Amino acid sequence: MPMGTKPTAELFAARQQHLRTVLEKRRLPILVVSSPVNVFYLTGFHGTAGVALFERSEAVIWVDPRYTLQAREQARGVEVIETRTGLFKAVGRWLKKKRAGFAGYEDSHLSCAEFKGLERESPRSTRWQAAGGIIEELRMVKDSYEIDQIRQAGHLTAEVLTEVIPGIKPGVRESDLAAELEYRMRRKGADGAAFETIVASGARGALPHARASGKQLSAGELVILDLGAILAGYAADMTRTLYLGRPGLRVRNLYKAVVEAQQEAVEAARLGVRAGDVDGAARRSLKRRGLADHFTHSTGHGVGLQVHERPRLGRNEKTRLRAGFVVTAEPGIYVEDLGGVRVEDTVLVSTHGPEILTPAAKAPWCIE
Ligand code: ZN
Ligand code: ZN
Repeated sequence: MPMGTKPTAELFAARQQHLRTVLEKRRLPILVVSSPVNVFYLTGFHGTAGVALFERSEAVIWVDPRYTLQAREQARGVEVIETRTGLFKAVGRWLKKKRAGFAGYEDSHLSCAEFKGLERESPRSTRWQAAGGIIEELRMVKDSYEIDQIRQAGHLTAEVLTEVIPGIKPGVRESDLAAELEYRMRRKGADGAAFETIVASGARGALPHARASGKQLSAGELVILDLGAILAGYAADMTRTLYLGRPGLRVRNLYKAVVEAQQEAVEAARLGVRAGDVDGAARRSLKRRGLADHFTHSTGHGVGLQVHERPRLGRNEKTRLRAGFVVTAEPGIYVEDLGGVRVEDTVLVSTHGPEILTPAAKAPWCIE
């Protein structure tokens, strides 16, 4: 399949059908979808302003004139209606015409003020139900098209890092390295970086979400590189840690511990396992080495149209993994004076077991 292939109309039909089944189960006759990423998931429309509505037999997307052509070209399985008077006003008119008494809205995406606007534009008889999270729930299970895109984004990400590693040496600036990684992602056909590339060296690596700074890499430092390409709207997420020079025993042990914990998390990412138990696998592994206190975040998160989506792989998370889930496994250890070690892969949960979608090597990791 060529890079970033377009999804077919059948895919959107299947997703919309899936949504209708859920709505029926929840006895919700109508859902108004206002989150751009969810609109994209259900219709293929990639604009930033558009509101879609789904009910048993009809599906509509309203856009303002800036997006009419784009919506007609991209949107599948929905009637495209141009409106010049405001998207929510158009929704309200539709509800009035259909005499709709009951509808759901995405409370996870609409601010209170936005919802009030929607309510104001709707017939007074419409009862609104907060129904956020329905589509996020559907999005946890990726279809084969989505898996393909994430796999390509992941392999591309791994290739880019592998190509850049020979140029990593003392004196190189973190920000230059980040720019190089992102440039190569684009050159290889990615839409861009799925998030701001992190390059954090030395003590800066102890900040789990440090960005790339103007700092130069030095010999005797750990360097965390956290990167991911985005392709056809789908993200990958990968972290590798390198060391500049010949590490002492302490650093070698830390690295080994994190790689082992990460492998255990990947191995645990199987059908029917609770998200919290994948987190537990990484945590137990680090605990055996007395390092659990230095692991200060959760083990991973879902990846798809967003870099961080459901499920969260954290303590006590009850969601059971199903075939088609794509999650990260990314334990990390952060030591104030020394820096950080984190290793992360994007992993597909499948009937054949876990598949690493970001297959960059974890060794050799020392650059001499
Ligand atoms: Zn990451
Ligand atoms: Zn991540």
